[in-house]
Amino acid sequence: MAATHSTRLLILGSGPAGLTAAIYGARAGMAPIVVQGIQPGGQLTITTDVENYPGFADVIQGPWLMEQMQKQAEHVGAKMEWDHIVEVDLTQRPFRMRGDGGAVYLGDALVIATGAQAKWLNLPSEERLKGKGVSACATCDGFFYRGKKVIVIGGGNTAVEEALYMTNHSHDVTLIHRRDSLRAEKILQDRLFAHANIKVMWNREVAEFIAAGEPEGLVAADLRDTQTGAIERIDLEGAFIAIGHSPATELFKDQLELDSDGYIPVIPGTSRTAIPGVFACGDVMDKVYRQAVTAAGTGCMAALDAEKFLAEADFEAAPARRLQEA
Ligand code: FAD
Ligand code: NAP
Repeated sequence: MAATHSTRLLILGSGPAGLTAAIYGARAGMAPIVVQGIQPGGQLTITTDVENYPGFADVIQGPWLMEQMQKQAEHVGAKMEWDHIVEVDLTQRPFRMRGDGGAVYLGDALVIATGAQAKWLNLPSEERLKGKGVSACATCDGFFYRGKKVIVIGGGNTAVEEALYMTNHSHDVTLIHRRDSLRAEKILQDRLFAHANIKVMWNREVAEFIAAGEPEGLVAADLRDTQTGAIERIDLEGAFIAIGHSPATELFKDQLELDSDGYIPVIPGTSRTAIPGVFACGDVMDKVYRQAVTAAGTGCMAALDAEKFLAEADFEAAPARRLQEA
């Protein structure tokens, strides 16, 4: 028979948000269980150098950082479960989840830290060149393209912000967009068009990335004109895909109201969702910053909010207990 795991604080996700919630939750005596999901350690386990997580003067590796966070969480008493949640019921307390092997998880409070995934173009050459010139995060990887010719693909706020950000590192930034107008906010568009080091190529999409060298790296891209179908090759050394993110919220869509982009809304300045006792942190509720340190920060908030919620729930239950005892 499948196991049942019960805890005061159930945490879904083991990226920086979930593991930070686990550290704070364990230290507050809530004996949290972390359901790690299919990507234990989260998005940072698929990158190499991390240079912007505070506390490390030397360059650290993403997988190493996540290993340390997990060890720290376990050291203070959090329990890790290697399982992936496939079903949730938030209509009654304790909240009830089911893992893909059938195990049941019950939590008096729930922290959702299931993160988000960058959308990719899904080209075979893109897959091969991830981390070798193709990236989905300029804030994370832009530094490695100092003085290099780069393109940013997309037409929303993220693409425009990433193009502007890349001018800190490169004098030759080209925004590639599949239509002839951007959907980014006007103020960002104004900054983009005014910038001497940014060009825009309209009505273009990447047909294929081109690699060369040993070890192989990105050297060019074939661009397709979306109106004529004509292909032209441009030389470049870095490509940033900025065509949106998908938050991992499919599980919750019938239980929690999501915003128009699928993110979990929280009460501003807190991690509280519309359901008392359910908290959200990290990339699953943050479409703007999407950094390890902000995910960790909101993970801390979620554990502190959960602690307060459980203490207040105990307080409400206390008179009944006292009556029974009398
Ligand atoms: P994630 O890290 O996305 O973790 C989500 C977790 O939820 C995973 O453990 C997953 O297994 C779990 N999960 C999902 N669904 C389920 C489910 N149904 N049941 C159970 N668990 C589930 N940020 C920086 O600050 N600096 C960097 O240098 C940097 N580099 C990056 C490089 C790359 C290639 C990428 C993709 C991102 C990078 N980022 C960087 C961004 C950073 O990784 C994210 O902002 C951060 O990981 C978000 O943390 P999170 O905990 O919210 O979610
Ligand atoms: P987005 O607004 O969905 O824009 C995605 C862009 O990528 C669109 O221009 C889209 O083109 C293009 N695109 C999508 N799929 C593509 C494909 N397969 N090939 C080529 N291009 C493709 O995503 P986002 O820019 O990440 O923003 C997401 C949300 O976060 C938005 O609500 C945004 O306002 C918000 N955000 C806010 C800030 C801020 O406030 N500073 C910063 C970042 C993000 P089309 O235009 O043709 O559809």
